[in-house]
Amino acid sequence: NPSLEVSGLAYAYPDGTQALYGVNAVIGKGERVALLGPNGAGKTTLVLHLNGILHGGLGTVRVGGLAVDPKDKKALREVRRRVGIVFQDPDDQLFMPTVREDVAFGPANLGLRGAELERRVADALERVGMLHVADRPPQHLSFGQRRRVAVATVLAMEPEILVLDEPSSNLDPASRRELAEILLGLEVTVLMVTHDLPYAAELCPRSLILSGGVIAADAPTLELLADD
Ligand code: ADP
Ligand code: ADP
Repeated sequence: NPSLEVSGLAYAYPDGTQALYGVNAVIGKGERVALLGPNGAGKTTLVLHLNGILHGGLGTVRVGGLAVDPKDKKALREVRRRVGIVFQDPDDQLFMPTVREDVAFGPANLGLRGAELERRVADALERVGMLHVADRPPQHLSFGQRRRVAVATVLAMEPEILVLDEPSSNLDPASRRELAEILLGLEVTVLMVTHDLPYAAELCPRSLILSGGVIAADAPTLELLADD
């Protein structure tokens, strides 16, 4: 089973704006793929379809073979566990008194408790190098640290696919490098929305270019960098 299969996905917002015109894409298990494209191309709209936040258009989305069906609440819950989205602003994802509680929030919601929950939290924080700040309030951390904790909150759900929106934005060069190393060390499937072509080239062997609501190119990222 591929991690992600999008076929014939078309979507118009309630005001009539047609954002997607028939998007097709297949992403294999463990692949790292960049999603590039100009502002207004439909990147956010596509990402919001991957876990059923947006729905109601044409076409299908499958995550690990499971169809995103907003009418099937059980399947939708499972899809939301499988698709972990790291939003651009980490402060949208961190709202608990401590880092540990933020990372525990999702898995606790899945029903994990006790030692199993602790292990899940410690493992996620360890992967992003943030275990040492587990007991601190997220707002006491630097922006780069908060972004890494936001990644940990998603990893703690053990997603099938990790979606990152502009992961390199607002990071200094050292933090960008650290985050790149972390992402390269993960075994999960990655879809990274970005305008940062060098960062995409470093992390993602393959790129999809979305333009005007369709996939305009699907190519090795290094080819795109050479054309740039
Ligand atoms: P990005 O390029 O990072 O996706 P956008 O500027 O496209 O950011 O969108 C920012 C927010 O504004 C999103 O929540 C999007 O849904 C909303 N938005 C974008 N265009 C419109 C529009 N024409 N009408 C209403 N909301 C919009
Ligand atoms: P991107 O993320 O690539 O910048 P978006 O998915 O945000 O693109 O937007 C795709 C198109 O949909 C744009 O024309 C945008 O203005 C429009 N759009 C986005 N959000 C909304 C919304 N909430 N209502 C109406 N139109 C929207």
